[in-house]
Amino acid sequence: MEKIYVTRSSMPSYKEYCEAIKPLWESHWLTNMGQYHRELEERLKDYLDVPEVSLTVNGHMALELAIQSFDFPEGSEIITTPFTFVSTTHAIVRNRLNPIFCDIKESDGTIDETKIEELITPKTVAILPVHVYGNICNIDAIQNIADKYGLKVIYDACHAFGETFKGKSVAGFGDISVFSFHATKVFNTIEGGAVCSKNHEVYEKLYNLKNFGIRSEELVVSVGANAKMNEFEAIMGLCNLKHIDSAINDRKRVSEKYTNAFKEVEGIRLLKFNDNTESNYAYYPIVLEDKYHISRDELYNKLMEKDIYTRKYFYPITADHACFKNKYKYNNLNTARDIAKKVLLLPIYEGLKDETIDRIVTAVLGK
Ligand SMILES: *Cc1c(COP(=O)(O)O)cnc(C)c1O
Repeated sequence: MEKIYVTRSSMPSYKEYCEAIKPLWESHWLTNMGQYHRELEERLKDYLDVPEVSLTVNGHMALELAIQSFDFPEGSEIITTPFTFVSTTHAIVRNRLNPIFCDIKESDGTIDETKIEELITPKTVAILPVHVYGNICNIDAIQNIADKYGLKVIYDACHAFGETFKGKSVAGFGDISVFSFHATKVFNTIEGGAVCSKNHEVYEKLYNLKNFGIRSEELVVSVGANAKMNEFEAIMGLCNLKHIDSAINDRKRVSEKYTNAFKEVEGIRLLKFNDNTESNYAYYPIVLEDKYHISRDELYNKLMEKDIYTRKYFYPITADHACFKNKYKYNNLNTARDIAKKVLLLPIYEGLKDETIDRIVTAVLGK
């Protein structure tokens, strides 16, 4: 049987990409903020409807440098969610800051905004929530808390490319929103990422941080890293951006087919999608409640035997990974741990065939 993976990268046609990269053989200009790097930044400003976009080598470095751009004092605290990819927590810790884990909401998996305030101390400098699975956090409540206590808000928006909430682009929320353009994401540049903001100063700081702090041949203004996106990747992005709307539309077809199959099944819970959100259908999580006839782990194994590769995404929660366990102050993370034990991501990608979806549905429901 054909193996079915949880995702498959969207790509332009071979011919389209080859045509697009041809000029690189003439110019020999392969990286260092070349023409295509600049062009993709411009296109993304339009598409994401945000004033400033800085492209980076990947989403993780975008997060790490976005945090660094604030120059928080060492040992400061950032309130964040443990129900995310490890990159989110790593980006905080690699900046020598302390993650303060806040529990999540059972309904949609995002940070529980009602539990943030009790975690604030004199050392708190920022809140770093994640629009997990593309579910938009309670941005109004989070912004109110941030304003009240003078905190920065940095969104890990890696799952939320292209989404809008109440008609507004997700890229404009908080002080900074960060995206990943990794091959497995809705929009990809092979590897890549972006830091979005409404503030030109953020763009300039990111420019320094991603390019050694070099402003001219003889002027180095800050101790930056090297985290630039190269021209091949920028061109992949320009090609994929042309097809992004149809890619998202096709994911919608897959998502709707799953929802029709699962919405009335006892024991399968679908995470509630925020009203007023225009989704990108990046992921399809199902939560297997205790009353379902098999557990999440049993289902994961059973599907694997049938060559269907799903993901326990996110299990374990980042607070419980070997590198973080017992290192940081523990708050009650019961909801995050509970969902982490029960959630399974089903395959979803552009071009997933109807008959393959049927095969997956049958395998999930089969006794
Ligand atoms: C993918 C992802 C990242 C990291 O992005 P990379 O491009 O893989 O470095 C960070 N946070 C979340 C939530 C992600 O899904």
